[in-house]
Amino acid sequence: MLLEGKRVSFLYKEQLKKEVDALLLNGKRRPHLAAILVGHDGASETYVNSKVKNCAEIGFTSTLLQLEENITEKDLLEKIKKFNDNEQIDGILVQLPLPKHINEQKVIEAIDPEKDVDGFHPLNAGKLVQGIPSFISATPYGIMLLLEYYQIETKGKNTVVIGRSNIVGRPMSILLSSNRPFGNSTVTLCHSQTKNLEEICLGADIIVAALGKPGFIHADMVKEGSVIIDVGITRVPDSTKKSGYRLQGDVDFENVFQKCSAITPVPGGVGLMTITGLLKNTMQAYLSKHS
Ligand code: NAD
Repeated sequence: MLLEGKRVSFLYKEQLKKEVDALLLNGKRRPHLAAILVGHDGASETYVNSKVKNCAEIGFTSTLLQLEENITEKDLLEKIKKFNDNEQIDGILVQLPLPKHINEQKVIEAIDPEKDVDGFHPLNAGKLVQGIPSFISATPYGIMLLLEYYQIETKGKNTVVIGRSNIVGRPMSILLSSNRPFGNSTVTLCHSQTKNLEEICLGADIIVAALGKPGFIHADMVKEGSVIIDVGITRVPDSTKKSGYRLQGDVDFENVFQKCSAITPVPGGVGLMTITGLLKNTMQAYLSKHS
């Protein structure tokens, strides 16, 4: 079975759109997401534009602040402060990665945790670990929504998360091991220093691959009937495409598909659910101020 992020994200967006319409009928303003993009990285531009487009589709207001690559850290922090202080803005995101001369951690910590709809601020990450309601990092949040939609049983299952980044792997491992719906699994968190990865994966009922190595997870690593969540998005050269590249996940899709019971495609899987997570976080940020 295909876990169709595209279809599920559409359904969530329809629901959010209705919620916005209801707000407007009650004389309220629209939720507002502000995004900051530094420099001209092609992939980052694509992601931010897609976020802005999705905001428009459901009736959110959005602001996109595009800054040149050579902006100083101080100036960027000032821009964030302005967004923090602006009561008309509910959610703020700074598209990563940032240029080398800017300290990413400082930038993440400069965002008001109550507007941190990407869920990267240490306060939100810490709350997640302790099971306190918080903004959940958009990609893991989107994956949880997908598991819920398809009613994928996680309780008591062996889950392997590959990748330990603060934005995907680590929060994913916490969610899947927490005592919550679509959690309660026994999680093994693997990373670049893990030994016997193949063996560990073969014992997994669910694999979340978030390492950024196209086609890395091959059929021999996957147990018959397992569930595969492919987070990876890498641009690989493809002369048959107008753009000159195609997007590839971390899973050897064609061969793994034959063996697993459910899998997310790339594109059309986790990427769109990430945007759903972001939009839902923005609505949550708005509602926490307006209810
Ligand atoms: P990252 O580079 O921060 O982390 C990669 C992780 O993979 C590291 O923790 C590393 O230890 C681990 N790793 C690397 N090589 C490994 C190996 N051989 N075996 C086991 N572990 C290994 O990446 P990230 O930001 O977490 O993103 C991972 C992938 O997910 C990338 O392809 C990225 O583009 C994609 N991504 C997709 C979405 C989405 O919306 N679909 C969102 C965020 C990231």
